[in-house]
Amino acid sequence: MAETITLGPDGELNVPDEPVIPYIEGDGIGVDIWPAARSVLDAAAARHGRRIAWKEVLAGQKGYDETGEWLPAETVEAFRSHLIGIKGPLATPVGGGIRSLNVAIRRILDLYVCLRPVRWLAGVPSPVKEPHLVDMVIFRENTEDIYTGLEAASGSPEAARLIELLADAFGWEIRPDAGLGIKPVSKFGSQRLQRAALDYAVRRGRRRIHWVHKGNIMKFTEGAFRTWGYELVREEYSDVAVGYHDCGGDPGDRILVSDVITDIALQQVLTRPDSFDVIATMNLNGDYLSDALAAQVGGIGIAPGANINYVTGCGVFEATHGTAPKYAGQDRVNPSSLLLSGVLMFEHLGWQEAADDITAAVEATVGDQIVTYDFARLMNGVTEVKCSEFAAAVIDRL
Ligand code: NAP
Repeated sequence: MAETITLGPDGELNVPDEPVIPYIEGDGIGVDIWPAARSVLDAAAARHGRRIAWKEVLAGQKGYDETGEWLPAETVEAFRSHLIGIKGPLATPVGGGIRSLNVAIRRILDLYVCLRPVRWLAGVPSPVKEPHLVDMVIFRENTEDIYTGLEAASGSPEAARLIELLADAFGWEIRPDAGLGIKPVSKFGSQRLQRAALDYAVRRGRRRIHWVHKGNIMKFTEGAFRTWGYELVREEYSDVAVGYHDCGGDPGDRILVSDVITDIALQQVLTRPDSFDVIATMNLNGDYLSDALAAQVGGIGIAPGANINYVTGCGVFEATHGTAPKYAGQDRVNPSSLLLSGVLMFEHLGWQEAADDITAAVEATVGDQIVTYDFARLMNGVTEVKCSEFAAAVIDRL
């Protein structure tokens, strides 16, 4: 019988064998990748005696066409009340008051963690020599930083007023034709993200965490993120984790927590990827890092993601790429980003065996040289298949 996922007293999810899971098909290539990903998820769940009662909810163009709203309130409410959901990409409406539907969903549900695991799957074409060394999980803060949209345009009355205020109150000199943006980074926002990364590392047996920051320059935002991270380890996690400087680099059997400046981090994830494990960072750094890392292991056609609030239990899993409108409806693109987001969702639900089956089947399919156009153009002697055919080949290999 189809039932709703609920949150237990200790923050754990109670997942029935037939959970109701809301989904947004998505705009553009959503019509191609959603049915493909769903067919594999259903087949893998069935192998382990489970079934998903999918519940379609609307957003984006389909939402607008059917309800007159880009993001109907019932959609957000369905994600909130069912706790876990999955979505295809959504186009950002041009004009109108909505900055981005994806950002709106994250903000309304306060999904403060953007989770991006980055791991190479055997056979996937990669621009680096040793992609098998890449196995990182990025925790990107999703609600603060320069992404809050607190900006004033160059030459606007708001910018002029702010420049005057800053000069009067603090003696800060800013050129009169500057545009301005505000970068809030709070202790609350930083530590709940860092707590999520620490809990994940403990749960998953991960050995290292890096706080990635540019605190040498932005001392009271990014520098504070670093300081608060180490404080949190000392105050709440000293039995399972220790900061580098508190143990002289020798953590014993505890998780080693270090920090690294963003620009160096962007070099080192390339030159020595095996020294990185879990990474926690602010919004902008996380955006850059997750795409740079995704490129090492096959690009955005295969990069999964999730937005999670570990306190309310709410999580929305999503393909990390956009709607790729030029390919919409052609049954051509790679469904793996959405499919692997589903794998991430299965892991989050505790359906690890079904998740592992899909990962292994995707590897076997690519290993058999059966790939969509994006991989085909990077590989020799492969069989190029459609989006739906790729999904069918994965199901054959489950
Ligand atoms: P995009 O949709 O991500 O597409 C950029 C390029 O990435 C495509 O042209 C294609 O490259 C490649 N690509 C994307 N998805 C792929 C897949 N499944 N398989 C293989 N290749 C794939 O970015 P965009 O064109 O800048 O954005 C289009 C719309 O999506 C915008 O309205 C944007 O706001 C929105 N968007 C939504 C999300 C989201 O919902 N989370 C995220 C980003 C953007 P080639 O041309 O090289 O084949």
